[in-house]
Amino acid sequence: MPISIYNTLTRKLEEFKSIRPGEVRMYVCGVTVYDECHLGHARSAFIFDLIRNYFKYRGYEATFIKNITDVDDKIINRAREEITDKNSLLFGKGLNSAVKEIAERYTKSFYEDMGLLGIAKADKEPKATEHIKDIIKMISTLIDNGHAYVSGGDVYFDVRKFVGYGRLSNQDKDQMLAGAHHDNLEKKRDSLDFALWKSAKENEPEWDSPWSKGRPGWHIECSAMSMRYLGDNFDIHGGGRDLIFPHHENEVAQSECATGKPFANYWIHNGLLTINGEKMSKSLGNYVSIKDVLARYPSDVLKIFFLGAHYSHPIDFTWEKMEAARNAYERILILFDRINREEGPLKAITSGGDTGNKDIFNLKQRFEEAMDDNFNTPVAIGALFDLVNLGNKILEKRPQLHQFMVKYAADILTELGGVLGLSFKTASNGLSDKEIQKLVGARIEAKKSGDFKEADRIREELKQKGIILEDDKDRTHWRRKV
Ligand SMILES: [Zn+2]
Repeated sequence: MPISIYNTLTRKLEEFKSIRPGEVRMYVCGVTVYDECHLGHARSAFIFDLIRNYFKYRGYEATFIKNITDVDDKIINRAREEITDKNSLLFGKGLNSAVKEIAERYTKSFYEDMGLLGIAKADKEPKATEHIKDIIKMISTLIDNGHAYVSGGDVYFDVRKFVGYGRLSNQDKDQMLAGAHHDNLEKKRDSLDFALWKSAKENEPEWDSPWSKGRPGWHIECSAMSMRYLGDNFDIHGGGRDLIFPHHENEVAQSECATGKPFANYWIHNGLLTINGEKMSKSLGNYVSIKDVLARYPSDVLKIFFLGAHYSHPIDFTWEKMEAARNAYERILILFDRINREEGPLKAITSGGDTGNKDIFNLKQRFEEAMDDNFNTPVAIGALFDLVNLGNKILEKRPQLHQFMVKYAADILTELGGVLGLSFKTASNGLSDKEIQKLVGARIEAKKSGDFKEADRIREELKQKGIILEDDKDRTHWRRKV
């Protein structure tokens, strides 16, 4: 079955057809590095990594580009605040070097977060400041062909010259005017025109250009970098819903006017994240960073929470929902623990006419059908949990053949879970399996010699370190608590 994608550009569910056979080229708007990443960033990064993984699972060669915006008004504003803040390490520094340090600090933090989340890097993660030449070249093209104009050292895109303006966000001019930034109106021909190049104010970061010493506007960065690595026309452009207008609308306009070709064929937008039904913001005091959540839960639990909502829908974060995700996740780990406890050779088999096998195969198929259908993760993760139930059921029957089957179920679970970004590893509690087994052995010895006080002490020590013991007749099983 082919993969279907809801395309924001056409507002339709469309069968995905790649430009080059067997190859998908995708660009996603990454972070602007002026603050710690919050859960909304984690969701977006997770979703596009998952889409890339699924294309690979489906046999595509995938090229994935995700940018880092490291020069922008937000970064400059943050630097202005910190150089006048006595509590900041940047107090008293020059604006230009403070901007660099802010960008470096939060780029580093972004990579730490992605590491903690277990989200793989894109094939290239270009930075705006390293592509100024590409950006200047594209702006020059737009001036030469009459789609942009110079005004007071700035360069603006002339929206009235592009009839397709408003197509992506599906808005008329009045709606767009309501959502646009009304700045520098005295320099613009039309209030919807947007800056491609901004002349620098005193001490701001600046680069030489034919028009002024200045810096690029945000929108042009993404056009220049996506086209640099993926060509003029590529398959998929993604980002958060909040970027459709004006950012993506502007990307389409300037890219298509520069090349005369269609820009991205499919536009994928992820829904936004709220907290307890409210927009997350520092001023509301409900800001939850990625590090806050991962201090309390393994990354797999956060991913299970994300997978429960369709990527295109909004998602509302609550700590109660995280607890529910933790409980669900624990069910999977308990199954893996049960399988690991089984004695005898457990080898995977991948074919066979047995009913149990057929059920496993059907669940795999259900997973694939769900993912083919616009990456429907709530249904796909449902198939995984049904697989867990099936694994438990098979395990309870216990004859030798069923051991083979349960191993097969576990292999499929590991494979499909991997496509969804799940590693099935819990956070390290500082004890290796060997050390745990040694303590469990010492406790059994203590019990045998009648030293129940020592046995209880060891049980308590393990519990403190997140290890749960279950005594089963003459054996003791252990598992890590999620
Ligand atoms: Zn962008």
